Amino acid sequence: METSAFGAFLIKYAEIGIKGKNRYVFEDALMGKIRERLKSAEGDFEVTKSSGRIFVHASGGYDYEETVDALKTVFGICEICPMYEAPVSDIKTIGEAAAEYIRMTFPEPDFSFKVFARRADKSYPLTSMEIASEIGGMLLQKFPSLRVDVHEPEVKLNVELREKVYFYSDGIPGPGGMPVGTNGRAMLLLSGGIDSPVAGYMIAKRGVVIDAVYFHAPPYTSERARQKVEDLAKEIAVYTGPIRLHVVNFTEIQLYIYEKCPHDELTIIMRRYMMRIAEMLAEKNGCFGLITGESLGQVASQTIQSLAVTNEVCRLPVFRPLIGFDKNEIIEISQRIGTYETSILPFEDCCTIFVAKHPVTKPNPGIIRRHEGNLSGKIEELVKEAVETADVVVAE
Ligand code: ATP
Ligand code: MG
Repeated sequence: METSAFGAFLIKYAEIGIKGKNRYVFEDALMGKIRERLKSAEGDFEVTKSSGRIFVHASGGYDYEETVDALKTVFGICEICPMYEAPVSDIKTIGEAAAEYIRMTFPEPDFSFKVFARRADKSYPLTSMEIASEIGGMLLQKFPSLRVDVHEPEVKLNVELREKVYFYSDGIPGPGGMPVGTNGRAMLLLSGGIDSPVAGYMIAKRGVVIDAVYFHAPPYTSERARQKVEDLAKEIAVYTGPIRLHVVNFTEIQLYIYEKCPHDELTIIMRRYMMRIAEMLAEKNGCFGLITGESLGQVASQTIQSLAVTNEVCRLPVFRPLIGFDKNEIIEISQRIGTYETSILPFEDCCTIFVAKHPVTKPNPGIIRRHEGNLSGKIEELVKEAVETADVVVAE
């Protein structure tokens, strides 16, 4: 196991919108999520809160890379600052420790800097200002290529006197957002494509717990397509926490629509039934909204007219976080979060026989409703059965 001289991390989080009473809820949720995620990293960690800041302390050896990687997946963290610790002592010894920190962090120290000092212990014989200027002076002496810039320093060296002295400078960016669980629950329509996993990630980032639903149509869609969706759910669960994935058998419904409705309207009518079923599952599972990976204009079923027709069957809000994104922007996110490689595997999430050559791009809601009328009498029973027989697997 690789041990690191950084004994601790300061965890910075965005403070906007978390003033007052909410702050505790937010901080406690964040600490809980950090503890959960750190179980996957080798080492023993203590997560504490002190004067409105969160610290992760490693007691003994730990795997630095694994720890940072785990922290990078916790929504709510905006920066992860590795800290070097030394005992509280006279200012000269603290200056030596500061020099050691610089050596460790910057192999060739050549930059402008400013020291920011803070003391929790007000009985220390020097003020924060004095500590900062003493340490600054000592570093200038030790490293001839350093220079002080109090206005726009390249490196901000923080020195904090608490039960120990802590040194840290720039942090590693975290994912931002809010801790999962601070913002309710929503149902993600998860297919095997590139978009929907990204959409789920983005809504979870705002603190929402994710449930997911996948519509499969065996034997028209393969077991491997289903496996791919389960894999994608696992990949986003790294960020969101465990996801309950509801697998709905959609074959009968799809065949019945195929039999009774004009083929250029198949996709749009199918999408309306997916939304209806997703909403029923959402309500059964305490979700406050639906999430899709739709992006305006991307395909026929995502023109503004198609979205309006799909949307009208739902009462719950439908979150479409990718609505204004170009495909290449969505791909960039999927690569960054690690779902892209799975998404581009070739197993289709929808059978080509159900896809018309020339699907309607400007569906008329009145006409769609009328054609859906062809289904009544039997469709209600099929929908009910699809909901009742949905398989649930937990992806984690
Ligand atoms: P994705 O890349 O997410 O598959 P897409 O570009 O292929 O999206 P569509 O196939 O039109 O777009 O689907 C639009 C959205 O509908 C998807 O992002 C997803 O949220 C939902 N969806 C589509 N097919 C399924 C399915 N079989 N099961 C669950 N949700 C689905
Ligand atoms: Mg798709």
